Amino acid sequence: MNGTQSCPAPSDLASIVDYAASLDCIHCGLCLEACPTYTLTGREGSSPRGRIHAMRAVGEGRLEAGSALKEELSFCLGCRRCESLCPAGARYGHMLSVARDSLAQRFTPWPARLVRFLSLRLVVRSRLLLSGAASTLRLCQRSGLFQALARLFPRSARLAALAALPAVPARAARRPLPPLTPATAPGPAETDANDAEVAMLEGCVMPELLGRVNRATARTIAAAGSSCRTAPGHVCCGALNAHNGDLAGARALARTTMDAFDALTGAADAPLTVVVNSAGCGAHMKEYVELFEPGTQDHARAQAFASRVRDYAEWLAPRLPALVSPTGIQAPVAYDDPCHLCHGQGIRSEPRAILDALPGVQRVEMEDSEACCGSAGTYALQRPEDAQAVFASRERAFGESGAGILVTANPGCALQWIAGLATSHPQARVLHLAEVVEQALVEQPDELGARWNSPVARQSHRRRGKEGEGETAEAAL
Ligand code: SF4
Ligand code: SF4
Repeated sequence: MNGTQSCPAPSDLASIVDYAASLDCIHCGLCLEACPTYTLTGREGSSPRGRIHAMRAVGEGRLEAGSALKEELSFCLGCRRCESLCPAGARYGHMLSVARDSLAQRFTPWPARLVRFLSLRLVVRSRLLLSGAASTLRLCQRSGLFQALARLFPRSARLAALAALPAVPARAARRPLPPLTPATAPGPAETDANDAEVAMLEGCVMPELLGRVNRATARTIAAAGSSCRTAPGHVCCGALNAHNGDLAGARALARTTMDAFDALTGAADAPLTVVVNSAGCGAHMKEYVELFEPGTQDHARAQAFASRVRDYAEWLAPRLPALVSPTGIQAPVAYDDPCHLCHGQGIRSEPRAILDALPGVQRVEMEDSEACCGSAGTYALQRPEDAQAVFASRERAFGESGAGILVTANPGCALQWIAGLATSHPQARVLHLAEVVEQALVEQPDELGARWNSPVARQSHRRRGKEGEGETAEAAL
């Protein structure tokens, strides 16, 4: 228990955890072996069952909700692999968010409160501040500051993690997408009329660190026959807030996100499908209902909104043209399932189907591809040693797969893999799925299949070939 805080009164206990949800766990233990933190420690307390048991004990007043519990919940990666294996349907991710929020409100010392306020309530909401933060980070990287500090303090894992961060692109490559990327080919005949246009989430971190992924996403949506619109002025969906125990901030950002995308309408004024290329954001947006009380207007609105959210692979797989050109990718490709795509959204086959449909792509399965890579939002920066320990088995699996390219579908995972493989596999490339699809469009435009080969598309490819010089995935890596 934190020495500066008192134990909450029993009447307050129910609000600290979702006690009713904790009763779903039947203690079978099927989730234990798959949990990365249990694998690292072998301790029951670091397992999903142990954590749920602790939450239940808090709800019953048998356990003090203090710094020990906060530490255990902070050690958890929030990967939700336990949910995929749970026969009782325990909603671990939801329970974790509720408990983290309560504990953060009660046991966060003021300097950390200030950092949380600045990062979660100010920076992630402002494109200007995010851009400023990215420019500052780039300045530090280019001056060698992090490397120098890491050499000076060799035992600081956090400085080592900062020194290993992938390079922040120049400001010119961090420009936002245009409000509209027009379709460059007709869509499939059976497509919903309202899919002539879709909306796309740009996100908070993606435009600053992996803007090329957003550009590849918009281009490939356009080439699959839908105009791609963005929500000008919108920044963050609130996933970072929810995962870091700030549910009030997450609620506010959920409302602004729904406002921004509800304002984008297509045929017959119907709201557009929202395509998301970040697994963590997509999982969170599909679960906005968890943030609001059932029966409220917000809850009903969140339900309707969730039905329109699609992950990029989920949206593209049924629309992928039958003929596409070779991608020019030579090395075998391994797909790593982002936790919030496979465990959070149940999407596993679509990304593989897309890769398998691209001529020239040789896909290999990586052992235990549903295991967490250790990125987990801001976890890799907050707990770099634990993140590295979790990543070690992924690094080994990649090496054993014989792949030369790692494909993922989440920005945090991409950054973790880029940093993690930089030393052990310097020749390896890390790509977002959209970048692999894009290479079928950009690198071999004259050999594209019939649907990808319209005159409009050809012109567009040539134009992009000049504009996008130096920013293809290959060049960027
Ligand atoms: S979310 Fe991941 S790390 Fe946390 S308890 Fe579940 S399996 Fe373990
Ligand atoms: S698999 Fe589900 S029910 Fe079984 S111990 Fe884990 S959380 Fe509890």
